[in-house]
Amino acid sequence: MKFSILTLFPEMFEILETSILGRAKKNNLIEIETINIRDFSKDKHKKVDDTPYGGGAGMLIRPDVVYDAYTSLNNKGKVIYMSPQGKRLTQDKVKELSREKELVILCGHYEGIDQRVLDKIVDEEISIGDYVLTGGELPAMVLIDSVSRYVDGVLSNESVKEESFSEGLLEYPQYTRPEIFLNEKVPEVLITRTSQKY
Ligand code: SAM
Repeated sequence: MKFSILTLFPEMFEILETSILGRAKKNNLIEIETINIRDFSKDKHKKVDDTPYGGGAGMLIRPDVVYDAYTSLNNKGKVIYMSPQGKRLTQDKVKELSREKELVILCGHYEGIDQRVLDKIVDEEISIGDYVLTGGELPAMVLIDSVSRYVDGVLSNESVKEESFSEGLLEYPQYTRPEIFLNEKVPEVLITRTSQKY
Protein backbone atom coordinates (compact mmCIF):
# COMPACT_ATOMS: atom_id res chain seq x y z
CA MET A 1 0.00 0.00 0.00
CA LYS A 2 1.27 3.45 -0.82
CA PHE A 3 0.87 6.61 1.28
CA SER A 4 1.66 9.94 -0.39
CA ILE A 5 1.84 12.75 2.14
CA LEU A 6 1.50 16.42 1.28
CA THR A 7 3.18 18.29 4.13
CA LEU A 8 5.28 21.31 5.05
CA PHE A 9 7.37 19.14 7.40
CA PRO A 10 8.46 15.94 5.61
CA GLU A 11 11.26 15.35 8.12
CA MET A 12 8.67 14.55 10.80
CA PHE A 13 7.83 11.32 8.97
CA GLU A 14 11.32 9.89 9.54
CA ILE A 15 9.92 8.39 12.72
CA LEU A 16 8.07 5.89 10.51
CA GLU A 17 11.45 4.32 9.64
CA THR A 18 11.52 2.60 13.04
CA SER A 19 10.14 -0.66 14.41
CA ILE A 20 7.27 -2.51 12.70
CA LEU A 21 6.56 0.14 10.05
CA GLY A 22 10.26 0.50 9.27
CA ARG A 23 10.39 -3.25 8.64
CA ALA A 24 7.21 -3.14 6.55
CA LYS A 25 8.81 -0.42 4.41
CA LYS A 26 12.02 -2.39 3.97
CA ASN A 27 9.98 -5.43 2.91
CA ASN A 28 8.04 -3.28 0.40
CA LEU A 29 4.71 -3.98 2.10
CA ILE A 30 4.09 -0.27 2.48
CA GLU A 31 5.53 2.73 0.65
CA ILE A 32 5.65 6.20 2.19
CA GLU A 33 6.32 9.17 -0.07
CA THR A 34 6.46 12.73 1.25
CA ILE A 35 5.89 15.78 -0.93
CA ASN A 36 7.03 19.10 0.50
CA ILE A 37 4.30 21.65 -0.23
CA ARG A 38 6.88 24.43 0.17
CA ASP A 39 8.73 23.19 -2.93
CA PHE A 40 5.75 24.44 -4.97
CA SER A 41 5.87 28.01 -3.69
CA LYS A 42 6.60 30.58 -6.40
CA ASP A 43 7.56 33.16 -3.80
CA LYS A 44 11.27 34.04 -3.64
CA HIS A 45 11.23 33.43 0.13
CA LYS A 46 9.30 30.16 -0.35
CA LYS A 47 6.34 31.57 1.57
CA VAL A 48 3.27 29.30 1.48
CA ASP A 49 0.80 31.07 3.77
CA ASP A 50 -1.10 34.32 3.90
CA THR A 51 -3.57 36.21 6.09
CA PRO A 52 -7.24 35.14 5.93
CA TYR A 53 -9.69 37.33 4.01
CA GLY A 54 -12.17 38.95 6.42
CA GLY A 55 -9.62 38.94 9.26
CA GLY A 56 -9.13 36.48 12.08
CA ALA A 57 -6.11 35.14 13.88
CA GLY A 58 -3.23 33.29 12.23
CA MET A 59 -2.26 32.40 8.70
CA LEU A 60 -3.74 30.06 6.10
CA ILE A 61 -1.89 27.88 3.60
CA ARG A 62 -2.51 29.19 0.09
CA PRO A 63 -4.60 27.03 -2.28
CA ASP A 64 -2.27 27.30 -5.30
CA VAL A 65 0.76 25.73 -3.60
CA VAL A 66 -1.31 22.85 -2.26
CA TYR A 67 -2.91 22.31 -5.66
CA ASP A 68 0.45 22.29 -7.46
CA ALA A 69 1.87 19.84 -4.91
CA TYR A 70 -1.15 17.58 -5.44
CA THR A 71 -1.01 17.68 -9.25
CA SER A 72 2.69 16.74 -9.12
CA LEU A 73 1.67 13.25 -7.93
CA ASN A 74 1.66 10.52 -10.56
CA ASN A 75 -0.71 8.00 -9.07
CA LYS A 76 -3.54 9.58 -7.18
CA GLY A 77 -5.47 7.61 -4.60
CA LYS A 78 -8.25 8.78 -2.32
CA VAL A 79 -7.34 12.16 -0.79
CA ILE A 80 -7.71 12.56 2.96
CA TYR A 81 -7.37 15.90 4.72
CA MET A 82 -6.43 15.55 8.39
CA SER A 83 -8.72 18.03 10.16
CA PRO A 84 -10.30 18.54 13.59
CA GLN A 85 -13.60 19.08 11.72
CA GLY A 86 -13.37 15.69 10.01
CA LYS A 87 -15.08 12.38 10.79
CA ARG A 88 -13.54 10.61 13.77
CA LEU A 89 -10.98 7.92 12.94
CA THR A 90 -12.31 4.60 14.25
CA GLN A 91 -11.09 1.02 13.86
CA ASP A 92 -13.86 0.42 11.28
CA LYS A 93 -12.63 3.39 9.26
CA VAL A 94 -9.05 2.12 9.61
CA LYS A 95 -10.10 -1.28 8.20
CA GLU A 96 -12.00 0.40 5.36
CA LEU A 97 -8.99 2.54 4.42
CA SER A 98 -6.65 -0.46 4.51
CA ARG A 99 -8.51 -1.82 1.44
CA GLU A 100 -7.24 1.12 -0.66
CA LYS A 101 -4.14 0.62 -2.81
CA GLU A 102 -3.00 4.22 -2.36
CA LEU A 103 -3.90 7.11 -0.06
CA VAL A 104 -2.93 10.76 -0.42
CA ILE A 105 -2.82 12.48 2.97
CA LEU A 106 -2.92 16.26 3.19
CA CYS A 107 -1.54 17.84 6.37
CA GLY A 108 -2.62 21.34 7.33
CA HIS A 109 -0.64 23.72 9.50
CA TYR A 110 -1.11 27.21 11.03
CA GLU A 111 -4.85 28.02 10.91
CA GLY A 112 -5.45 25.47 8.17
CA ILE A 113 -5.83 25.56 4.37
CA ASP A 114 -7.84 27.76 1.98
CA GLN A 115 -11.24 26.06 1.53
CA ARG A 116 -11.22 26.25 -2.28
CA VAL A 117 -8.42 23.72 -2.75
CA LEU A 118 -9.98 21.43 -0.14
CA ASP A 119 -13.24 21.50 -2.13
CA LYS A 120 -11.33 20.63 -5.33
CA ILE A 121 -9.09 17.77 -4.22
CA VAL A 122 -10.23 16.27 -0.90
CA ASP A 123 -12.42 13.15 -0.79
CA GLU A 124 -12.68 12.86 2.96
CA GLU A 125 -11.74 14.81 6.11
CA ILE A 126 -10.60 12.77 9.10
CA SER A 127 -10.01 13.83 12.70
CA ILE A 128 -8.06 11.81 15.24
CA GLY A 129 -10.02 13.32 18.16
CA ASP A 130 -11.73 16.36 19.60
CA TYR A 131 -8.64 18.43 20.31
CA VAL A 132 -6.46 20.70 18.19
CA LEU A 133 -2.86 19.93 17.25
CA THR A 134 -0.42 22.32 15.60
CA GLY A 135 -0.41 20.38 12.35
CA GLY A 136 -1.74 17.39 10.45
CA GLU A 137 1.57 15.48 10.58
CA LEU A 138 0.97 13.63 13.87
CA PRO A 139 -2.64 12.79 12.86
CA ALA A 140 -1.33 11.52 9.48
CA MET A 141 1.16 9.27 11.28
CA VAL A 142 -1.61 7.93 13.52
CA LEU A 143 -3.62 7.10 10.41
CA ILE A 144 -0.67 5.50 8.58
CA ASP A 145 0.31 3.41 11.61
CA SER A 146 -3.21 2.14 12.29
CA VAL A 147 -3.97 1.40 8.61
CA SER A 148 -0.60 -0.29 7.96
CA ARG A 149 -1.30 -2.84 10.67
CA TYR A 150 -4.05 -4.25 8.42
CA VAL A 151 -1.84 -4.51 5.35
CA ASP A 152 -1.10 -8.16 4.59
CA GLY A 153 2.21 -9.31 6.05
CA VAL A 154 2.80 -6.30 8.34
CA LEU A 155 1.54 -8.24 11.38
CA SER A 156 0.43 -11.82 11.80
CA ASN A 157 -3.32 -12.22 11.19
CA GLU A 158 -3.74 -13.53 14.72
CA SER A 159 -2.27 -10.36 16.29
CA VAL A 160 -4.68 -8.11 14.40
CA LYS A 161 -7.71 -10.33 15.05
CA GLU A 162 -7.14 -10.58 18.80
CA GLU A 163 -6.79 -6.87 19.46
CA SER A 164 -9.07 -4.28 21.01
CA PHE A 165 -11.93 -3.09 18.74
CA SER A 166 -11.38 -5.88 16.19
CA GLU A 167 -14.26 -8.01 17.45
CA GLY A 168 -16.10 -5.07 19.05
CA LEU A 169 -14.46 -5.77 22.42
CA LEU A 170 -11.47 -4.47 24.33
CA GLU A 171 -8.44 -6.60 25.06
CA TYR A 172 -8.11 -8.42 28.40
CA PRO A 173 -5.14 -7.86 30.79
CA GLN A 174 -2.02 -9.81 29.78
CA TYR A 175 1.10 -10.94 31.64
CA THR A 176 4.64 -12.12 30.86
CA ARG A 177 7.71 -13.15 32.91
CA PRO A 178 8.67 -12.84 35.71
CA GLU A 179 5.94 -14.96 37.27
CA ILE A 180 6.10 -12.82 40.44
CA PHE A 181 6.61 -9.07 40.21
CA LEU A 182 6.50 -6.81 43.31
CA ASN A 183 4.68 -9.62 45.12
CA GLU A 184 2.00 -9.86 42.41
CA LYS A 185 1.65 -13.28 40.84
CA VAL A 186 0.46 -13.98 37.30
CA PRO A 187 -3.10 -15.47 37.53
CA GLU A 188 -2.85 -19.24 38.16
CA VAL A 189 -5.11 -20.14 35.25
CA LEU A 190 -2.67 -18.58 32.77
CA ILE A 191 0.34 -20.35 34.34
CA THR A 192 -1.46 -23.70 34.06
CA ARG A 193 -2.42 -23.01 30.44
CA THR A 194 1.15 -21.99 29.56
CA SER A 195 2.67 -25.10 31.15
CA GLN A 196 0.11 -27.30 29.28
CA LYS A 197 1.13 -25.65 25.99
CA TYR A 198 4.91 -26.15 26.35
N1 SAM B 1 -8.14 26.46 12.69
C1 SAM B 1 -8.40 25.06 12.85
C2 SAM B 1 -9.63 24.83 13.69
O1 SAM B 1 -9.95 25.70 14.50
O2 SAM B 1 -10.23 23.76 13.58
C3 SAM B 1 -7.21 24.36 13.50
C4 SAM B 1 -6.03 24.28 12.62
S1 SAM B 1 -4.74 23.29 13.32
C5 SAM B 1 -3.91 24.44 14.34
C6 SAM B 1 -3.65 23.06 11.99
C7 SAM B 1 -3.81 21.74 11.26
O3 SAM B 1 -3.58 20.67 12.16
C8 SAM B 1 -5.15 21.45 10.64
O4 SAM B 1 -5.28 22.06 9.38
C9 SAM B 1 -5.15 19.93 10.55
O5 SAM B 1 -4.50 19.49 9.37
C10 SAM B 1 -4.30 19.52 11.75
N2 SAM B 1 -5.08 19.04 12.92
C11 SAM B 1 -5.15 19.65 14.12
N3 SAM B 1 -5.88 18.95 14.98
C12 SAM B 1 -6.28 17.82 14.34
C13 SAM B 1 -7.07 16.70 14.70
N4 SAM B 1 -7.63 16.59 15.90
N5 SAM B 1 -7.26 15.72 13.77
C14 SAM B 1 -6.71 15.83 12.54
N6 SAM B 1 -5.95 16.89 12.13
C15 SAM B 1 -5.75 17.88 13.02
